[in-house]
Amino acid sequence: MKTRSFRTALVAGGAGFVGSHLCDHLIAAGYRVTCLDSLLTSTMDNLRGLLRDSRFSFVEHDVINPLPRGLTADLVFNLACAASPPLYQLDPVHTMMTSVVGTNNLLIFAAEQGARLFQASTSEVYGNPTVHPQPESYFGNVNTVSPRACYDEGKRAAETLCFDYLRQGMADVRVARIFNTYGPRLRASDGRVVSNMVSQAIAGEAITVYGDGAQTRSFCYVDDLIDGVMRLMLHEAPLMHPVNLGNPTELPIVEIAAMIRTLAGSSSPFVFRPLPVDDPCRRQPDITLARALLQWQPRIGLTQGLERTIDWFREVQEQTVVGGAAERTV
Ligand code: NAD
Ligand code: UDP
Repeated sequence: MKTRSFRTALVAGGAGFVGSHLCDHLIAAGYRVTCLDSLLTSTMDNLRGLLRDSRFSFVEHDVINPLPRGLTADLVFNLACAASPPLYQLDPVHTMMTSVVGTNNLLIFAAEQGARLFQASTSEVYGNPTVHPQPESYFGNVNTVSPRACYDEGKRAAETLCFDYLRQGMADVRVARIFNTYGPRLRASDGRVVSNMVSQAIAGEAITVYGDGAQTRSFCYVDDLIDGVMRLMLHEAPLMHPVNLGNPTELPIVEIAAMIRTLAGSSSPFVFRPLPVDDPCRRQPDITLARALLQWQPRIGLTQGLERTIDWFREVQEQTVVGGAAERTV
């Protein structure tokens, strides 16, 4: 098979947690990158290092609107969508439109450009799974009228759109079902579990455990995820199915809380809060397909990944304190 060579990338949602790491990777690998983002759940802080690079450009844009004219790309990454449950539930209609109308706008752009599109789908398409661990062949168990449905059903519809464009020969797509990912650049105010617990532990505040903490998740360090995303995107053979990307190490949330507290050297107490509606009980990726197809598996263990994340949160906190002090003296 002839290998295509790609040189320009458009990253929708590129200012966010995962998207900014992807932009860093693409620039380091020699691509020209346009980041398209509405800054709904991010700030320009994540892009500070990239803005100095002449191969990087930023366009503020909401993907539910048609893409601005004049953009070019041969790889299109669609990561635009709030991923934190409290944030994607703030404006559920906009969340759903982001995944459905936004993905369609990016697919139209990819079709016009003859580009390949990566869709950041999610383990949430499995809902509260009745099959464990979750293989790609599992159709899922989503409550269509849940407060989570704007995200889950939006992402399911986006997958449908991607494979309809592919079947109709309109665009080449790669769809990853991403499981919980963590690392530096999660915002302290994001509301997801790792960022909440790390910021609480280092501030000496109570660590919020929802429910009894027996629900499980499987956490993947962001660098491992980016490696998987790139392997999937550059895989040459057409793929008519999604691929799970995640770390199969599964732990109850209360054990993650205990690990974070220990690694942060914190003595914060745990405080138990009500479990959010339809919070999935168990989640673990079956990555047999990713291992076989992409020769991919996560390399960074939870202890190492959490240590790096805690270090980063501490650094940001110190910079904020120093910045704050400097401001006050002016
Ligand atoms: P994030 O909230 O940090 O980043 C999302 C980015 O998309 C933000 O910069 C936000 O401003 C932007 N955005 C949101 N709506 C937009 C819109 N309508 N138009 C333009 N930009 C918009 O989240 P993340 O963790 O970096 O997630 C990135 C992608 O990966 C999302 O699509 C998410 O669904 C998917 N995903 C992430 C995880 C995870 O654990 N991080 C798991 C599964 C799937
Ligand atoms: N959670 C928690 N404390 C928090 C935030 C989240 O116990 O401060 C729980 C949440 O109820 C869920 C898990 O941690 O069971 C993962 O939550 P997150 O919002 O990070 O992602 P989800 O996998 O639910 O989309």
